[in-house]
Amino acid sequence: MDMHRQTLTELCAGLDKGDFTSVELTQTLLDRVAAQDEKLNAFITVTSTEALAAAASADKARAAGNIGALNGLPIVHKDIFCTEGIKTTCGSKMLDNFISPYNATVVQKMADAGAVILGKSNMDEFAMGSSNETSFFGPVRNPWNLECSPGGSSGGSAASVAARLAPAATGTDTGGSIRQPAALTGTVGLKPTYGRVSRYGMIAFASSLDQAGMITRSAEDAARMLGVMAGFDERDSTSIDQAVPDYLAGIGESIKGLRVGVVRQHSDEGLEERTGARAKDAIAVLESMGATTVEVDLPNIDLSVPTYYVVAPAECSSNLSRFDGVRFGHRAENAEDLLDLYCRSRGEGFGDEVKRRIMTGAYVLSAGYYDAYYIKAQQVRQLIADDFKKAFADVDLIAGPTAPSPAFKLGDKVDDPIQMYLNDIYTIGANLAGLPAMSVPCGFVDDMPVGLHLVGPHFGEEMLLRCGHQYQQETDWHIACPEAFK
Ligand code: GLN
Repeated sequence: MDMHRQTLTELCAGLDKGDFTSVELTQTLLDRVAAQDEKLNAFITVTSTEALAAAASADKARAAGNIGALNGLPIVHKDIFCTEGIKTTCGSKMLDNFISPYNATVVQKMADAGAVILGKSNMDEFAMGSSNETSFFGPVRNPWNLECSPGGSSGGSAASVAARLAPAATGTDTGGSIRQPAALTGTVGLKPTYGRVSRYGMIAFASSLDQAGMITRSAEDAARMLGVMAGFDERDSTSIDQAVPDYLAGIGESIKGLRVGVVRQHSDEGLEERTGARAKDAIAVLESMGATTVEVDLPNIDLSVPTYYVVAPAECSSNLSRFDGVRFGHRAENAEDLLDLYCRSRGEGFGDEVKRRIMTGAYVLSAGYYDAYYIKAQQVRQLIADDFKKAFADVDLIAGPTAPSPAFKLGDKVDDPIQMYLNDIYTIGANLAGLPAMSVPCGFVDDMPVGLHLVGPHFGEEMLLRCGHQYQQETDWHIACPEAFK
């Protein structure tokens, strides 16, 4: 099979057997990026020189018998991860020429395991968005239909994996930014448990919700990557010191007896009928494989979007205060005084959605409204987390659709923030509760892919990955490739 069609796992076997070298593989994918990305705009930066150098050292290391878990495998990093010596923009004019002096822990760990970076992927500005349209570098297009959005904010990562420009990519997920684009592009997206993967060097949006994860074509590949990315990091105070299991070890086991929860309360208002039907079909496949379904109650789940849109803006208004044109970020020219410098630098550097979030955040944190909004939202957040906890007493995981519809047209929702926000109605709960969650391709609606969403209890990644992998043994939705990118 052509190299670009292979999964990480298949490529790894090919490198092991000596079918090709990492330099050959890397060159093939760089050529594809050069030929195809004009259509997609999935990359902000392509790092050809660095990639070929890293591939050459991976080949050398392999020859010397020094084979890391990702040795010689080309991947893409979302442009939110700091990469030493390589531009890191976070999709914003604010950081348009920021060259990080250090690597994010995720980047370093993957480099240590032998991964080759093809480039940095396009994303919504500061990861705020569900369509990739808030990027300063222009929207990303969905490989399944170039008029459609690939979802966001990790849209460039998802599009590059779906279009077979890269076998895998990193992403981040604050409210759904890995899982929703994975669903809309027919790829696999995993957001691990909060604290499982270090946030060090990952530009902060909402620190209590942000988590790094990956977009791949198979659950098996996600397991391979998570094993490298996960683990305690003393430079991230919210990183959890818990041993990293071998995520690949158990994925081959049957899901017989797995208790799958289906949420009774999810209001189906806004759920496109056939998208919901595909998720139901997928749950029926799990049942045919020996899983049992149980209805569960999440009585407060419909409050997750409004809760998130208080907590996330509050945290972002604080996190983004560092971009003042002095310590960090774009600096306006010819400022009259310090205040003018702040105002103009931020006014010029940030786009509309980011400004909207900062203003909302400053408002809900202000002295007069703090109790009414921020404190209240934190209380509701706790109720939602408690609901999940109760539900997981009866089930092993919770399943449903990842997003309410397949990919929408670029431009369709950009002027209606509420409609845009509602795209994350099924994903946000897992972020508020810190739970691991995954999207797996589960079919098509009018030729556009849709995803099955699986949420597990804290540190339930092994079980999610096993369920996803077993589902992919029974189905081949994840093998489908957009016609224009075969
Ligand atoms: N779409 C959501 C938002 O705009 C989630 C983004 C994310 O997960 N980074 O905030």
